[in-house]
Parts: sequence; C-alpha cells; structure tokens
Amino acid sequence: MGIVVQKYGGTSVANLDKIKNVAQKVAHRYRQGENVAVVLSAMAGETDRLINLAHELSHTPHLREMDVLISTGEQVSVALLAMMLNDMGVPARSLLAHQIAIKTDTSHTKARILDIDADVLNKIFAAHEVAVVAGFQGITKDRDITTLGRGGSDTSAVALAAVLKADICEIYTDVDGVYTSDPNICIKARRLDKISYDEMLEMASLGAKVLQTRSVEFAKKHNVPILVKSTFTDDGGTLVTMEDSEMEKEVVSGITYDKNEAKITLLGVPDKPGVAATLFSALSNKNINVDMIIQNISTDGMSADMSFTVTMTDFEKALSIIGEINKTLGARDVLGDTSIAKISIVGAGMRSHAGVAAKMFEALSSVGINIMMISTSEIKISCVVDEKFIELGVRVLHDSFELEKPGGNFGEN
Ligand code: ASP
Ligand code: MG
Repeated sequence: MGIVVQKYGGTSVANLDKIKNVAQKVAHRYRQGENVAVVLSAMAGETDRLINLAHELSHTPHLREMDVLISTGEQVSVALLAMMLNDMGVPARSLLAHQIAIKTDTSHTKARILDIDADVLNKIFAAHEVAVVAGFQGITKDRDITTLGRGGSDTSAVALAAVLKADICEIYTDVDGVYTSDPNICIKARRLDKISYDEMLEMASLGAKVLQTRSVEFAKKHNVPILVKSTFTDDGGTLVTMEDSEMEKEVVSGITYDKNEAKITLLGVPDKPGVAATLFSALSNKNINVDMIIQNISTDGMSADMSFTVTMTDFEKALSIIGEINKTLGARDVLGDTSIAKISIVGAGMRSHAGVAAKMFEALSSVGINIMMISTSEIKISCVVDEKFIELGVRVLHDSFELEKPGGNFGEN
C-alpha cells in the first residue's frame, strides 16, 4: 500500500462545508486502499486574527507566547476534520505536533523542523486509520511549542512526506497550480505542468505565494515530489520535481514580484574596512535577512553610499538598528523607502543562454520603468523598481519572453 501526504490550506478548510468537501476527498483516497496522512492549515483568516489579537495587546508580543497562541488555529481544523471523517465511517485521529514529536529548533515564529517520529504514524497506518496532523506547529526539545513561519504547514507536509517516504506530497490550495505569473495581474499567465525544485525555490522566495520557500528546500533535499492542485477542481496541477531536459529548454519559466520589500540607504558612509561587517552583523544578530545590497564609492573616494533591501516586516526594526549604529559610524544620512518592489524572471534555461538580462532591461525601459537595483543568480534576475510599476512590469516581461506559449521562443525574434 502506498503512502500519500495531502495538505489542505486555509481556504480549503475555511468553513464546515469546505471541511466536509475535504473529508470526502480524503475518504476517497482512503477507500482506494492508501495510507493517508493529512496536514491542515488553520481555517482561513484565523492565523491573522490571532496575530492581530496579540498586537492589540502588546507592541512586541513575547515570541514564546505568540507561538502558543497562533498554533491554536490548526488544533481546531484537525479536530473538525477528524470528527467528520469518523462520522463518515473513516477511522481518523487528529494529531498535534507534540504527539508525533515534530522537533524543531528554538527560533519561535520561524522555527526549523529537525525531526519527526515516523513510528507513531506508521502505527496509525497499521491500524488502518487516517492521520490528521496539525500543520505549522512544532515542539522544541524542552517541549515548548513553536511555529514554522507563515505558510508553514506546507513545510510540515513535505517534512512528513520525507520521513514517511511517501510517494507524493499533494498540496491542495485555491489555485490549480503554479503559473508563469500571477493570473490576477497578468491575464496571459499560463499554468505550468512541471517545474524544477530550483525554479520553484526562486519563484517562492521571490514572491510567488503558492508554496512556502522552506517547503521547497526540504522537498529538494529529500527528493519529495510535490503536486500542487486545487481543492475545488479535479483538473490541472503542477508537479514540482527534479530538473529534466524538457525544463531546461524553457529560458524563462516565470515572472514574480514582491511588494513586501523596503529599501534602506546610507549616504556618505566612511569607506574603510569593517563598515559592511558592522552593519550586516548587527542585522543578522537580530535575525533580519538582507536581500539585495549595492554600494557606490562617492567621487571623493573617502565615502560610499550603500543601499540594501529587507522585508517590510523587518523594516522598522532594521531602520532603528542602523540608526543606532550610525551614531558611531557617522554616515551623513540614513533614508528609508517603502514604496519599492522587486520584479524577477526565473528559468533554468538561463544557465545556457546569453542576453537574457539585456532583454529584461530593454523590456522594462520600453515602458519607462527605471531600475534601482539589480541582482542575479544562475537562474534568476531581479530588479528593484518603484512599486507602482509592478503590474506594468510583469505584463511587459510576460509578453516579451512570450510566456503565454509553452516553450517560449527567446532569441528568435
Ligand atoms: N496557518 C498558518 C498561516 O496562516 C500556516 C499555514 O497556513 O500554512 O500562516
Ligand atoms: Mg499557504
């Protein structure tokens, strides 16, 4: 008998009717004779509601208590689904993180999974029961509750699939797969049948909301195939898997954008060894990730201007840390800008094609979009632009790389 892990997101369990619908899908698989582990998110909006509650009470909520609070949403949804399955004659058991020892590190609100006890789950399968596991939550070695970061139940599901050696991890959501771009802003966006882990990793970390980035890292590391599907229709789906020769033909596979970015600029920083080290270690000590960095030497050769980007959530904190350091560093000014966004093109085929960046810059300039920062990796190019140009930028890039057609035709025009 095969093992399948299915994960249903918040919109799939948003109300009791939707939970019944999920129960039917799970029952169907169970009756086909498979061992099914289901991972659930909290009902749509619940995690946000809990986070808001905490912020109403406290300016900087204690992180350990925050995790105790925000992990409760998943406890509700797993209990309801297991109840429903039992009513339908499908023996099912809800499980919280501590019951299957989903061990994590201690970084509250963004913990990493270290291990899961597969034995408990295998016993449940042996008893022909469905395991309904609360996503998003974990437990430290001191038995404190942790959570895995927003969207973390994707990672719970993939980690479970890895330890159970499941045939597949199916992620059910409100879209029917991964698209060449956000269909809400680009009507020509096309669903991809297949995408490689590396491309998906870039797409997820660059703003495509379908999968949590960490879940893709996990899947790649343990070679777990992920199938992204809609809970509400049977067709479609995108398989996230190892790269194959067909995927390499696609020069650009997708275009993503991220409005959740902000820029901090230091003007006239003394140009001497140790400055960057001081600034960026201070940020990393506070767990703030910096994305793009640029530095220009000023004309006098004595000082430099430096800009970097962080997420909007970290912006205020980063700005105050930099302001504090600058009391001794002595840069002329520290500026913040939250009206920026990042637009990126991703594709495995970029590795073997020249001129992709030039084509991207030309497309953006053809509609008058100014590029403020650029960063590249083997399979992606990102540009920071004014936030108000994002929709326009996505559409012009989608057209220019002809993503509406499978296979594209880069370089043939
Ligand atoms: N409920 C959590 C969130 O909203 C985890 C998840 O849905 O994946 O972020
Ligand atoms: Mg999600």
